[in-house]
Amino acid sequence: MPFFQTPPSLGNQYANDRVLRTYVARKLPADVLRDIEPSLDEMGELAGGRLYRRLVEEYDHEPRVVPWDAWGQRIDRIEVTPLWQELFPIAVQKGIIATAYERKHGRFSRTHQFALAYLLDASSGVFSCPMAMTDGASRTLLDTGNRAIIDRAIPRLTSRDPARAWTSGQWMTERTGGSDVAISETVARPDPTAGPDAFRLYGTKWFTSATTSEMALTLARPEGNPPGGSGLALFYVELRDDAGRLRNIAINRLKDKLGTRMVPTAELTLDGAPAIAVSGLRDGIKNITPMLSVTRTWNAVCAAAGMRRGLALARDYAKKRIAFGAPLADKPLHADTLAALQAEYEGAFLLTFRVVELLGKDEAGELTEREGHLLRMLTPIAKLTTGKQGVAVASEVLEAFGGAGYVEDTGLPRLLRDAQVLPIWEGTTNVLSLDLLRVMSRGGSLAVIEEEVRACTETATDDGLRRCGEIARSAVAHARAWAENAREAGPAALEAGARRLAMTLGRAMELAFLVEHAAWAQKTNGDARPAASARFLARTGIDSIVDDDFMPGASTLARYDE
Ligand SMILES: Cc1cc2nc3c(=O)[nH]c(=O)nc-3n(C[C@H](O)[C@H](O)[C@H](O)COP(=O)(O)OP(=O)(O)OC[C@H]3O[C@@H](n4cnc5c(N)ncnc54)[C@H](O)[C@@H]3O)c2cc1C
Repeated sequence: MPFFQTPPSLGNQYANDRVLRTYVARKLPADVLRDIEPSLDEMGELAGGRLYRRLVEEYDHEPRVVPWDAWGQRIDRIEVTPLWQELFPIAVQKGIIATAYERKHGRFSRTHQFALAYLLDASSGVFSCPMAMTDGASRTLLDTGNRAIIDRAIPRLTSRDPARAWTSGQWMTERTGGSDVAISETVARPDPTAGPDAFRLYGTKWFTSATTSEMALTLARPEGNPPGGSGLALFYVELRDDAGRLRNIAINRLKDKLGTRMVPTAELTLDGAPAIAVSGLRDGIKNITPMLSVTRTWNAVCAAAGMRRGLALARDYAKKRIAFGAPLADKPLHADTLAALQAEYEGAFLLTFRVVELLGKDEAGELTEREGHLLRMLTPIAKLTTGKQGVAVASEVLEAFGGAGYVEDTGLPRLLRDAQVLPIWEGTTNVLSLDLLRVMSRGGSLAVIEEEVRACTETATDDGLRRCGEIARSAVAHARAWAENAREAGPAALEAGARRLAMTLGRAMELAFLVEHAAWAQKTNGDARPAASARFLARTGIDSIVDDDFMPGASTLARYDE
């Protein structure tokens, strides 16, 4: 018989996920857990079964845009892949958005929602992208208090009925930039015939990922407004008329992207698209901020989900793949390689779900002032730290499959291609590092992070965990001392080191949360695995602060071209 390698397979993705299961067991009250567990189990079954098989089978399916109908009418219809068509009713009925807004379990509703999203994401071909924007738009509209738009859009955005449910896009990026949106070129002209807040938008949106959505939130400059961010306003757009035709919006083309290839990311021309000003005619960037906080949280959740999926596949394969006379799982070096990845994933998961927890408390009106500062600092930190980990872990996961990891119809290369977007969209690593500095300059003291790390690491139950706790604490103290020196050295020094600061804080927090989880696991069920992950994370490097940032000449180093 010729030899054929057995491909990796997945089981129920909730049942098999030790980290998620122990996390919800630790954090949720027993009655809440009892109530939500069937939904997690059901999602885990779908994600590890039918949806995963479809994703692999449809590895090369992509959306397409149909610009004209048979009779020459411009229609710009986007046809999404069969998997995406199936995902929409699933996501709506299972309450991927609704769960957060029904708030059946108060502050734990966000944990429930994001646990569902985390389970679904890795088998969805990045369907989490339109879901994230729908969630972000719901939060943003509710925060504006615009009753008319809330009454029209929120019941649809948060519906569990696929016939009624809407998704939303977020159109910020223009050819002028996605980070520096203050220089956006889209102009808003009043349309008094349609109402006092009615406008027509003219411009180009350069990246719009949820182009099949019924609505979008976008930025434009009302005519006569000054340049800069404060001159932009937040607008609500319904994309299609009752007959389903786009309203003065043309799809120029779909982007040909490295990854997220099932996501129909389009370039749009707005040629008088009807829009409504949501919240006055200024401060659009400020008013759209809740959207970014939510989508950045989604980004971190999806980074953790992608790492977990890669590891689930790699671990299964390691049991099946025989090399040099034994399964890879029995080779000490391969086991060590996977354990290091597991540590990255566990840290990322715990950091991310701490943000989720705080978001849930915030929406339930239970956040303390200290936790408010923590949430504002942790959101960019979690997004940027987990985005980078997602790419690094996916790359190692592909290597763990050898040549098969590089072959498209195994479904494996998607893991890396889809991970690479995580540090780019919703704010790049640098942009989020600068965002952290902004939060710090507005009262976000690093003392809050120090306090959180201290509280988590005090629970350490043995010498190994205590040592990990010390590493986390000393990294945060080092970061805080650096930030104080950098402030004195001037804004350029602070900015230049912002990424090292943010990554150090992110990794130190991950380690602290791992110590806390490990101490609980040891005490509760004698499980030593989280403690092993804490030790692995501690030794792969937590502190990337560079003290000689302030030595004479250090700031000119980066200016040399070669
Ligand atoms: C697949 C995909 C889908 C997308 N979908 C959407 C969407 O639906 N809606 C939407 O609005 N946008 C979307 N985007 C756009 C995305 O949000 C932007 O590409 C991203 O925010 C970066 O902006 P940019 O491309 O202008 O890069 P730039 O801002 O030009 O960044 C280039 C580099 O400069 C760095 N940089 C920028 N400013 C600074 C600074 N001050 N200091 C230090 N470094 C800096 C960045 O970190 C980056 O490394 C999508 C992008 C992708 C890839």
